Amino acid sequence: MDIHEYQAKELFRSAGIPVPPGEVARTPAEARRIAEELGGRVVVKAQVHIGGRGKAGGVRLASSATEAESHASDILGMDIRGLTVGKVLVTRAEDIASEAYVAVLIDRRRQSPVFIVSPEGGVDIEEVAAERPEAILRLPVDPRYGLLPHQAFRLADFLYAEAGHARQAARIMDRLYRVFTSNSCSLAEINPLIVTVAGQVRAIDAKVSLDDSGMKRLPELEALRDTSSEPASETRARQAGLSFVKLDGDVGCCVNGAGLAMATMDLVKYYGGRPANFLDIGGSSNPDKVVAALEIIASDPHVKVILFNIFGGITRCDDVAKGIVEARSRTAIAPPIVIRLSGTNEAEAIEILGEAGLAAYSSMDQVVERAVRMAGSA
Ligand code: GDP
Ligand code: MN
Repeated sequence: MDIHEYQAKELFRSAGIPVPPGEVARTPAEARRIAEELGGRVVVKAQVHIGGRGKAGGVRLASSATEAESHASDILGMDIRGLTVGKVLVTRAEDIASEAYVAVLIDRRRQSPVFIVSPEGGVDIEEVAAERPEAILRLPVDPRYGLLPHQAFRLADFLYAEAGHARQAARIMDRLYRVFTSNSCSLAEINPLIVTVAGQVRAIDAKVSLDDSGMKRLPELEALRDTSSEPASETRARQAGLSFVKLDGDVGCCVNGAGLAMATMDLVKYYGGRPANFLDIGGSSNPDKVVAALEIIASDPHVKVILFNIFGGITRCDDVAKGIVEARSRTAIAPPIVIRLSGTNEAEAIEILGEAGLAAYSSMDQVVERAVRMAGSA
């Protein structure tokens, strides 16, 4: 789950990372009031879950409250790569002497957090990585010990020649690592970390992604979710208790069990198709979940066929069959449905589906090949 810059800065602030003061506004008048309170120059920043807002015109400096109000009225409602801006952060403008890059993320191969820092911040870090890899330092952290003091100084030294700046930066590294671990983050990024003309090191941008799997442990973070910034289908799936990830293919997949769901998607690719989603209805056999799943998948206009792959263990095939029949009676499901059921109460399931005019297969290969063919000819 991604959170907004203003929320990430709140986490930074409470961890003691210096960030310029500011507040979020939903209207130009509110932006004006905040700018008046801050006094002096301010920056008006689009709050959307995407980077590169500056280049898209979503970050603007204002030298007066009137100018801040007019920038806010331009930015609010703006479309930044498919996302509509509903909020702006109005924050004190800093006089920048230099911009660096700092991030903590998970290195999956090492199975540990890793710091990535570069003195060449502000820009696209991927560009720096491609053109000047020597300008980037990667430093893995052993999660058992956390970020050790000498590591924090090594990172800080890589960014700054001046000891005073490095000392401030080392403290920020330490606190950023704490933000990362205590909020179950998959990413905590500062781009840019600046040195002001007066020699202060500060975070003027903040990007934080929270690992959804850690959210159960940290229910208070749920309050940071902005459902207006995620696909509506993902919101619905979460409310229905389904594991769902929207993808951009045309074969809708409804599967029980994450492993089988992954295998099903692999097989769709193997037969030359493209899955429209990952969806795990879970181990239980609750017809309501099946109804929700079917409606969520069918609401994607790209879906040309819906593929069910159910291996009945604890999940009862007849319950899934009932769910499919019920969903079709509740709402018009336009795409054709192909079904493979195997296991607990398979015979009953086939009967229920048969009465509703639906056929079921027991071979996974057969059903996936058929679904891909149908999507291709639809
Ligand atoms: P992003 O484009 O979405 O990454 O948004 P940022 O918050 O990183 O802002 C983009 C750029 O705007 C920064 O790299 C800075 O160069 C500039 N900028 C942002 N805030 C300030 C500020 O307070 N003062 C000045 N002078 N420039 C700023
Ligand atoms: Mn940035």
